[in-house]
This record gives sequence, C-alpha cells and structure tokens, in this order.
Amino acid sequence: MADFPTTARVVIIGGGAVGASALYHLAKAGWSDCVLLEKNELTAGSTWHAAGNVPTFSSSWSIMNMQRYSAQLYRGLGAEVDYPMNYHVTGSVRLAHTAERLQEFKRVVGMGRYQGMDLDILSPEDIRTRYPFLETHDLTGALYDPYDGDIDPAQLTQALAKGARSMGARIERFCPATGVRREGEEWVVSTPKGEIRCEIVVNAAGYYAREVSKWFGRDVPMMVMSHQYMLFDTISEIESWSKEVGHKLPLLRDVDSSYYLRQEKYGFNLGPYERNCKAHWVTKDDPFPEDFSFQLFPDDLERLEWYIADAMARVPLLEKAALTKVINGPIPYTPDGNPLIGPMPGVPNAFEACVFTFGICQAGGAGKVLAEWVTEGATEWDMWSCDPRRFTGWEDRDYCVQKGMEVYGHEYAIHFPHHAWPVARDRRLSPVHAQTRALGAQFGAYNGWERALWYARPGDDTSEQGTQTWRRDGPWFGAVAEECAAVRDAAGILDLPGFSRFRLTGPGAAEWLSRQISGKVPSVGRLGLAYFADDKGRIVTEMSVARLAEDELWLITAATAQAHDREWLERHLEPGLSLTDESADWATQILTGPNARAILAEVAEADLSRPWLTWQKAVIAGADCLLMRVSFAGELGWEIHSRNADTPRIWEAVMAAGEGHGLKPFGMFALNSLRVEKGYRAWKGDLSTDYTLLQGGLERFIDWSKPAFRGKAALEAEKQAGVTKRFATLVIETGDFDPPYMSTIWQDGQVVGELTSGYWGHRVGACIGLGMIRADLAVPGTEVEVEVFGERLKARVQKDEPLWDPANARIRA
Ligand SMILES: Cc1cc2nc3c(=O)[nH]c(=O)nc-3n(C[C@H](O)[C@H](O)[C@H](O)COP(=O)(O)OP(=O)(O)OC[C@H]3O[C@@H](n4cnc5c(N)ncnc54)[C@H](O)[C@@H]3O)c2cc1C
Repeated sequence: MADFPTTARVVIIGGGAVGASALYHLAKAGWSDCVLLEKNELTAGSTWHAAGNVPTFSSSWSIMNMQRYSAQLYRGLGAEVDYPMNYHVTGSVRLAHTAERLQEFKRVVGMGRYQGMDLDILSPEDIRTRYPFLETHDLTGALYDPYDGDIDPAQLTQALAKGARSMGARIERFCPATGVRREGEEWVVSTPKGEIRCEIVVNAAGYYAREVSKWFGRDVPMMVMSHQYMLFDTISEIESWSKEVGHKLPLLRDVDSSYYLRQEKYGFNLGPYERNCKAHWVTKDDPFPEDFSFQLFPDDLERLEWYIADAMARVPLLEKAALTKVINGPIPYTPDGNPLIGPMPGVPNAFEACVFTFGICQAGGAGKVLAEWVTEGATEWDMWSCDPRRFTGWEDRDYCVQKGMEVYGHEYAIHFPHHAWPVARDRRLSPVHAQTRALGAQFGAYNGWERALWYARPGDDTSEQGTQTWRRDGPWFGAVAEECAAVRDAAGILDLPGFSRFRLTGPGAAEWLSRQISGKVPSVGRLGLAYFADDKGRIVTEMSVARLAEDELWLITAATAQAHDREWLERHLEPGLSLTDESADWATQILTGPNARAILAEVAEADLSRPWLTWQKAVIAGADCLLMRVSFAGELGWEIHSRNADTPRIWEAVMAAGEGHGLKPFGMFALNSLRVEKGYRAWKGDLSTDYTLLQGGLERFIDWSKPAFRGKAALEAEKQAGVTKRFATLVIETGDFDPPYMSTIWQDGQVVGELTSGYWGHRVGACIGLGMIRADLAVPGTEVEVEVFGERLKARVQKDEPLWDPANARIRA
C-alpha cells in the first residue's frame, strides 16, 4: 500500500453524491489535502438508484438556497470538470388541488423570486399549455418552476469526484473506514488498507451514518424508509409530442396526491410518497445489514396501487404504458426530514453531512455548506434547518422511526403555521402537564417539550383539521384574544418547560462572559439580555443572563438552542471555568400582567418591590424558587424558576391565589402575539446568522467601550461603512392572513427587505411585521408593501420602539 495516504487534513467517510460534493467544495476552498473513503464503488449507497430529480422548490428559505445553488452548480459542472452529464432542465408543474395549496405556492414564488428565480403561478387553463396530457378539472392552479429537472446521480457524483481529484483531493474506493480514535489533537481513521491521521472527520455515510456515528460516541437521530419509483415503457403519443416540440414534458408533481411523474425517455417514471409507507431495518427480524452496496429491496407495488390509479386518472396516457421496472431503495430520514450538515454535537473536529432524503438535489449546496463549516467554522447562509444540533440527544429509536414515517407519509404536505404534527408526542412533559391539559391546553412540541399553544374553551374546535389553514382566525383565534386580554388587563400564566439553562462558574467567569457577549454582564442580583456575535458580527444567539454571584451565572436560552448554545459556550470556554447543563432539573412559569404582583403577594415570601431585571430567591408554598423580574409578554411580571419536584405545588398555589385576580393560563400563540407587539425577537426567526447585530437593530445591546468582545472589529467596521439593512417594525394592512417568514417587502416595484416575523397583535389590534429593510427606508412613516401569498399589502414603517408600551412603563410598574 505504498500509495495509501497516511495523513490528510480531512477524511470524508462515504462516497455518495454528498461526500463527493463535500470533497469537491473543500478542494475548491483550497483544502485539497483531503481523502474520501468509500467502502465500495462511489454511489453504492442511495445515490446509484436515485431518480435524480433536482427541484428548487422548498417552503424553507435555507433549503431553497441550497437547492437553488445545486441547480446552478450542476448546469456548469460538466463543462467545468470536462465530464458531460445527462442533466435535463425540463421545468416542473406542481399541481394545487386546494386554495390553501395555491397559497403555499404563492408564498414560495415570492421567496423564489427574492432568491433570483423566476417561478410562476399557472391558472388551471394555463397548465395545459405547459402540460398538454393532463386532467385539470379539479385543480386550483399550479406552480411552474423553470429550473427543475433531472440529473443522472452517478454521473453527478463522478463529475464532482473528477473535479475534486483534479484539484488534488484523493478518493480511496473499496476502502471502508472501520473505526476512529482520538490521539491528542488528531483523529486516526482505520481502514483495511491502513490508518489515516487527520485533523477533521466528516460522516457522509448516508443511510450508514448511524453506524459510523457510534464510533464517535454518538447516535445520529435517523431511520431508513423504503422508497420506490416505477418506470413505464414508451407511449407513442409522448414520443411524437416530444419529437414535435423538441423537448421533454416538464416534471409533474401532484403534491396533494403525493407523487411525481416524470417523462423518462418516451415513457414515465412515477414516484409516490405513500401514506401506507414502510420503514426498514427497525425490527429485530430485519437487522441493519453490514453491507447493502448496490442492492435494492423487493418490489412492493401493493402499497402504491392507489397512487398508480390516481396518476392514471391525472394523465390518462399512463394507462397505455407497460410497467417495466420498479426501483425500491433505502432512503434515510431524520425526525424532521431535513439532513444533518454541520458540527457533530459534542465531538471536536468532526462534522456531519448525512441522512439526506433529497441528497441529489441538495448535494451541491450541502457540499458548499459543509466546506464552509470545516474551513471557516460558519456558513454563508444561516443553516439551522439542517444543523445537527437541532436534535439534543433525547430522540430515541422509537421516536426517530415514528417521526421518519410521519414525515415520509407527508413529504409534500403543507406546513401550516398553527399546525402541530401529531405523531410521537408526549415525550417530554412539564411537571404540571396534567394540570395544563385539564385546563384545555392544546400542545405543540419544542425540542420535544410539550407546551400549551393555546387553551381551548368549551366548544372550541380542537381537531387537527381545524389547524390546516393559513387563516389568522382559525379555531384558536378567539381563545388567544382572551388570553392576551387577560395578560393585558389582569394576569396570565404560561408554563414553559424545556428552557435551556447553563450554570457558569469559576474565577473570572463574568470577565470571560463579557468577552463573549456584545453588552454588559449584569451585576450581582441583576439579569439582562446578552447577544453573542460571531467573528463577522452576525447574531449567533441570545441568552438571558442572571448574575447569581460574582463568578456564578445562569445562562438561560431557548429550548431548541440547548445543544447549539452549549456547544458554542464550550467551544470558547477557558480553563478553570465550568459549565453545567441544568436544563432538565428546572421548570419555569411566566406570571405576567398588572395583577401579577398582587397574586405573588398572596403566596410568595419575596420582596416584590425589587425592580425590573432583578432576580431573587423566594419561597412559594414552602418551596424554594427563583423569581426573575422580566416578562417576554411586555407586562409587569416574573418568571418563576423552580425545581421540577417543587413545581406542582407552586403552580397550585399561584393558580389558587390568581382566582381572585382574573388569572388565566395562556399559551405560545398568545406569547407570540405579545412579544411582536414589544418588538422582542425570536431565535432563528428574527435572530439568525443571516444578520449582524447592527442589522438586527441590537445596537443598544452593544457596549462599544468594552476593550474586546467577539465580533467587535467586524461590527465597528460595519458601523463605519454604514449599515445597509436594518431591523424595522411594520404595521401591515392585511386581510385574513398573517405574513409568513420571509415575506418580501416592496417599494416602487423593487424588493427592499423581508419579514422575519408576522403576527396579529391583540393588544394593539393590528398585524405586525418584524423584519429587515433597506437602511434608508427604516424611517418611521415610510410606506411600503408586504407580499403576502402573492398579494401586495400596504404597510408602514413604525418608530424604532415597541408598539405596545414604548416607554416600558407597564413592565417597570
Ligand atoms: C428510490 C429513490 C429515489 C430517490 N430519488 C431522489 C431524487 O429524485 N432526488 C433526490 O434529490 N434524492 C433522491 N433520493 C434520495 C437520494 O438517493 C439520497 O438522498 C442521496 O443519494 C444521499 O446521498 P449521500 O451521499 O448522502 O448518501 P449515499 O449515496 O448513501 O452515500 C453514502 C456512501 O457512504 C458509503 N459508506 C458507508 N459507510 C462507510 C464506511 N464505513 N466507510 C466508507 N464508506 C462508507 C456507502 O457505501 C455509500 O456509498 C432517492 C432515494 C431513493 C431510495
């Protein structure tokens, strides 16, 4: 093995489309001292048998970014690396059966245009001009995507591999990685051909990713589904039509029926995502195979009968064709269906680029993202949707299997903003879950924690069906209005399990923290909001900081941010400091509203005159707790932090005291309404690495006088150069719908910004948008338009202060 590489900067395990793209992008970034290990031949995993569809469509901004990038890359790749590929850009027609589906399309068209893509909506009449053989009588319209198409996945992988090799990267085929170990600052990857010492390892092992992850002491949250497509023989009408017009039919996606239908030569390829789907390798009698290279599962057409019949009704020509081949292959799923791209949680110098469900159309973008993570430690686009740290380790096998099946069976489903997916629920419960449920709570899961979204009143529609709407005034609306009114006029209580919290201790802890955050560390007894920037000044995260003692601090952050924020803190932690994750030990209630003090006065041994942004130890119903004088709802209020075991009696005592003061439980929908009225940002919505602190309007949380903090130089430079985009609050003259994430802001026919939050403010009685706008327009009174489901609605920029209680008089009361 004289030629076997014994050292490398990066070793990538897995030679599918994604591994090859990662290698190509690393080499492109100048990191050519990289080796890819493939246990069999390249493409032996899911890649060789993939259908190769390359859509750009996604209702997620970041996934759309990735897919758009892929499509762009694939167009030029063959010529760039001199490896011609079959890549047919046919365009696609995506059918809508309902008004809600058409709204989803209009939203995606808006996002797509913002990303520079000319997507379009077709009326039922127009559809046949794009796709003549189609039954359209029951359709409400369609989305036309001119960039969609299909690529040969094996050729794509080979082209990426060729490009990588020509830049100096190496590929070792028929060379499985068999284990890894850490030696000092290095990884040692073992293979039958020898060991490779390297700085960084990437798990790109596709559906084998879980097996590989175990070497790192990790259990990747994933499972494997069986996915099929069927090839149908030549249809003479398609052949003569194609020859006449000189191109193929656009790819058809009947998403409400849940399949795609693609012209394959002069026949069809039909690929359903069936509800009655099948998981593989999840039971003892169906163990995970040592090696499944280039293998398929047996055909299972019975599951697909409904879909075949439906497609035949949609495109009657299909009936004429003979079924010639079925491909049934393994396709991996995470619990939310998005891949894992980014740092491997808790493991130094290790990354993941695996568990891709759409790994052909995403490989290009994924390679770019992975290479940025490895070479720069951060990505150009905020990629939280794919960040491995969005899972925090509680997701057991059963959860992964159930969620994977749910996602697969609803692959094309609309994600409505008030809908909670029902499968594999009740995994993490608040100590007062039973009490809130008894009061009518309708739950949603946050990092697995069940939180009340709203409290149904007798007679309210609590069906899942009731939440399948874009409308603002769904079944929850009246109840949420009452919850907000209670918080405004009397008091509300929100049970908030799952807050992530870390205790930071050690000599110099506060000084260290000061170098990590942009603002001031609160003094002992006080608390404050802290913002963490990266070296480019972009918003990494936001935490509440309570200074418990000189060098003892509690850092409290979003439930979903647990693994992300812990990793960020640990990465920068200095010797002598200690960080402990206490998330599982504590529960939190938000008690807020003008009567909050009177309620606490009846039950709490505490000094309730202490001002806003202070904390104190207190006793309620004989139990110790911490009271923090703060309210994300923007009213007088306290967060009650208590040990899990003490929480039920505290809850009971507060609820009993509240009876005489109009206390009402409220949920996350009300909290969202209340917080947008205060201009409070939400993590990974309004606060993301897509924006700098200055763009995010967070300058009041920057202490320029501090000698140093992460991101300071970049922020200073940005301030000097002038901020080009700024946070703004808008009031929107909207009809029945609140603007979804990334609704575009227009002025004089030009896009001038985007919304990162849009919700109805019940206290101010208006639809509020929080977003980013061209800096020169971030002036109170500026008239703009917000595109909401294809309609441009009038909106006005507000003063740079909260719409509700701008002087914070109510909070300070
Ligand atoms: C029927 C079907 C149709 C599909 N159609 C599409 C489509 O139209 N569009 C689309 O975007 N996606 C499609 N997919 C999904 C797509 O196939 C996958 O998402 C994609 O191939 C994943 O690529 P990957 O590189 O992540 O994984 P893989 O292709 O599975 O590659 C992982 C590689 O790692 C290797 N490996 C594993 N363990 C080791 C080890 N220890 N050492 C060395 N090597 C190792 C494996 O041999 C394998 O080659 C389809 C999937 C199926 C099943």
